[in-house]
Amino acid sequence: MSDLVTGTDLMTLAGRLYPICRSISGNGLRETLRILGGHAPLVLTEVPSGTQVYDWEVPLEWNIESARLTDPDGKVVVDFTDHNLHVVNYSEPVTGAYSLDELGPRLHTDARNPEWLPYKTSYYRRSWGFCLSQQTLQSLRKGTFGVDIKSRLEPGSLTFGEFVLPGASRREVLLFTHACHPSLANDNVSGLVVAAALAQWLSSRPRKYTWRLVFAPGTIGSLCWLRNNESHLHMVEHGLVIGLLGDSAPWTYKRSRRGCAPIDEIVPYVISAMNPQSRVIDFEPYGYDERQLCSPGFNLPVGRLTRSANDGYREYHSSADDLKLISADSLLQSLDALKAIAETVETNRRYINLSPKGEPRLGKRGLYGSMGGSSPARSELAMLWVLNQSDGEQSLLDIARRSGLDFEVIRTAANALANSKLLDERDDGSSSV
Ligand code: ZN
Repeated sequence: MSDLVTGTDLMTLAGRLYPICRSISGNGLRETLRILGGHAPLVLTEVPSGTQVYDWEVPLEWNIESARLTDPDGKVVVDFTDHNLHVVNYSEPVTGAYSLDELGPRLHTDARNPEWLPYKTSYYRRSWGFCLSQQTLQSLRKGTFGVDIKSRLEPGSLTFGEFVLPGASRREVLLFTHACHPSLANDNVSGLVVAAALAQWLSSRPRKYTWRLVFAPGTIGSLCWLRNNESHLHMVEHGLVIGLLGDSAPWTYKRSRRGCAPIDEIVPYVISAMNPQSRVIDFEPYGYDERQLCSPGFNLPVGRLTRSANDGYREYHSSADDLKLISADSLLQSLDALKAIAETVETNRRYINLSPKGEPRLGKRGLYGSMGGSSPARSELAMLWVLNQSDGEQSLLDIARRSGLDFEVIRTAANALANSKLLDERDDGSSSV
């Protein structure tokens, strides 16, 4: 089952997911995970409302049918069915009559962008409200308005989905994407779509590592996942939070809290080779689920890959973050970048030169001009670099960076040398355990 291959495939799935009213719990989130499960089989976990999760608690489950604001003439001026950003996410049910002054603090606009709706939530404080354009707000006349929000806040559960692909080793690569935003295309849908396509691609490949892709609500969802998986977090060797992968900005890699994890070397190398305008930024305790995964009690080797960063583009958290903001090309390039990262994670190795006293003679082993795809001089140079640097400490990626040769050329050279018994792979523990 590989139906997420082209940019058009990715945009089609994005178009299907975009209209759904997601939240940190509820049927919109489940429907999203059900659709994704049709592309990459997900195991769903339900965490009951009221569950204590570290310093947090899973809230009541939220579902909504409708939300309307009616003006003094009886005309509907704000309607959830037009756009699910029109209601503050997690609004409690309410029916009543309110003056415009009373409504004031509950009407949210984006003053800088008068045509757009802002995205607002109130997960942990019981509240309600509407989001509308500044233009609509200015057109409202004084008088009595009707409010009718048909939502439910009741004991239920929070849902997250996992797709686990066993590898030769039980050591894991963790990919994490948030799944809780309603109709926002780049900030959420893009990450879901690219992660599902990556899951399909990974499932068709031989794997050294076990790959785990988690689709969960932001913050409380990653905390639930951490709590459920705390006993085997030491198996996570590499990880990435992914999202915001469909806009046109170059990639941004945010380092893990550790700052020197292997993923902090791999991702910058891959993305800068694919797009020299890519950025690398340091860790900060703000952003997406790296806030939890890299909290000091876990400190996982998890970085973050996005295009624009959180709050880093004008349309962020507004109705203008729609399907027009993302493109098939951007999604596909992001998928390609993640494939290249995955290949590098899977194939980066440390070797030990078994003939380290002087250069071994390559000619008598048939290694001159034996590699396809690059000029003999280049492949021989790559072999010299690999032999010289393979002391069990330098990885192939270290050698690629020091030599200025492509990782692929270095890796091919190492394979040829290993096949000729000139190198032995250093056991890093990943191939057994
Ligand atoms: Zn967001």
